[in-house]
Amino acid sequence: MNNITIAVDGPAGAGKSTIAKIIAKKLKINYIDTGAMYRAFTYLIVSKNIDFNNKIEIQRELKNVKIEFLNNHIYLNDKIVDSEIRTDIVNKNVSNIAKLDYVREHLVNLQKIIAQKGNTIMDGRDIGTNVIPDAKYKFFITASLAERGKRRHKQLIKTANDISLSQTIKSIEKRDIIDATRQVSPLIKAHDAIEIDTTNKTIDDTVEIILNYIREGGN
Ligand code: C5P
Repeated sequence: MNNITIAVDGPAGAGKSTIAKIIAKKLKINYIDTGAMYRAFTYLIVSKNIDFNNKIEIQRELKNVKIEFLNNHIYLNDKIVDSEIRTDIVNKNVSNIAKLDYVREHLVNLQKIIAQKGNTIMDGRDIGTNVIPDAKYKFFITASLAERGKRRHKQLIKTANDISLSQTIKSIEKRDIIDATRQVSPLIKAHDAIEIDTTNKTIDDTVEIILNYIREGGN
């Protein structure tokens, strides 16, 4: 298959990145986790204690920062920050940084350049609507809030995080509300995206649905 672009969007904890990673491997294409890019920039801003209202400082950081997603690792100024971007402080703040129009403009430009190279599966919130609106394949992955909370909680406790299930659910719900109600490219299903509710599906089920769809050429 040549020059394939796949957009995967959906709310927090729906399994987008797990699914996209498997599909990338099977189709031998690049996987780009755009959420990790917003997380890396948020990590930088909170580490430097920069006020979220300080547009000048944030713009200065944006101008100088180097954020790359390569071989399933997120690099911030050439350093891998895979675990740093999954901490509570980043979870709590990332949506407030991601809603800033000038932050989005900068990261979306980077993402568009990557997507133009083709052979990419990219996951996020605005990929099908804004980053690659002409992607050949678009999927919108959802699951009930309770199920997403359960899945995310399972992941979090693996890394010795003592957050409760109800706290996890509250935290992803908060993030979804900010993501879905922000002014600039909010989380929304693209009109031409295929919606898959994964509440009662395994990862393999969902991967199979997507691969079948792609094998059939999207018709
Ligand atoms: O995908 P993940 O849950 O890691 O994304 C973290 C946050 O980054 C989201 O809650 C959202 O605020 C932001 N994001 C975004 N646009 C994207 C990807 C992520 O606004 N394309």
